[in-house]
Amino acid sequence: MQHFISVDQLKPKEIYGIIETAEQFRHKNLKLNDQLFAANLFFESSTRTKMSFVVAQRKLGFEVLDFHKASSSTNKGETLYDTAKTFEAIGANLLVVRHQDDDWFKALMDHISIPMINGGAGKVEHPTQCMLDMLTIYQEYGTLKDLNIAIVGDIKHSRVARSNVNALKKMGANVYLCAAPGFEDMTIQAPYITIDKAVKICDVIMLLRIQHERHEAQLETTENYLYNYGLTKEREKRMKKDAIILHPAPINRDVEIDTDLVECERSRIFKQMNNGVYVRMAIMTELLQEWGIINENSIEKHKNVITYQRTKSV
Ligand code: ASP
Repeated sequence: MQHFISVDQLKPKEIYGIIETAEQFRHKNLKLNDQLFAANLFFESSTRTKMSFVVAQRKLGFEVLDFHKASSSTNKGETLYDTAKTFEAIGANLLVVRHQDDDWFKALMDHISIPMINGGAGKVEHPTQCMLDMLTIYQEYGTLKDLNIAIVGDIKHSRVARSNVNALKKMGANVYLCAAPGFEDMTIQAPYITIDKAVKICDVIMLLRIQHERHEAQLETTENYLYNYGLTKEREKRMKKDAIILHPAPINRDVEIDTDLVECERSRIFKQMNNGVYVRMAIMTELLQEWGIINENSIEKHKNVITYQRTKSV
């Protein structure tokens, strides 16, 4: 792994490796022996991604460098590049970056000599979300292959959709898209089906929030959106017996999903958030090892064989 920018850079074997390492971290807390510094440079709003990185870093024993865009020198005109170079210069060992530009990493990749993790790039990539989604599905089914997975919602403006379509297809899943008119993106290579067909045939229904902040113009009203395009209680009843519901959150209750379904038996939404901590621990340690920042002796590997059992409740 170079910088962790996209799941596209990983082979299926490496994806399974991260899933397994994440599961090991969930079962046993392991700390790094060395003093290491991590900085989370979030230029866009975040609750889950940022905070689960902080928890993951603290569990590993990192010193977390506090960065808040609002009180940083970016307000004095400093660029992302110079901000990242600054953290590198003062001794950060790892950067997590979220930025509104689709390709923020291009200008930085060859010039930053500490590992960077993409915490979200515009509307194109959210690889750590994708990894935690795959872990959650894998925990359920013990595989990703041949599963029918529908991604439902504002496909056009969603980085979660883009990261997941590519990665899930690579892992052998059958990926379908469902979108209201105006929310489709024909550049994404997956067939569109209706939400009614999706609930009938899919093992996983992954809902997406309407990404209002990325809309260039005010799109059609969201009135009746739930009824026409979202997961209603009536549609949930028509889902396959063991099918599960995912959502990267934040959730807009009663817009893309009926509020009563957010914590229903099929929902793995809060489980996804929990998995986010362990997947991020796994990604960070694998990256640090590849970069030679930590070695085998820095972390004691938990050797237990993990067996995946279907978790009925979150
Ligand atoms: N939290 C996810 C993201 O950062 C999904 C969302 O915001 O709707 O892309």
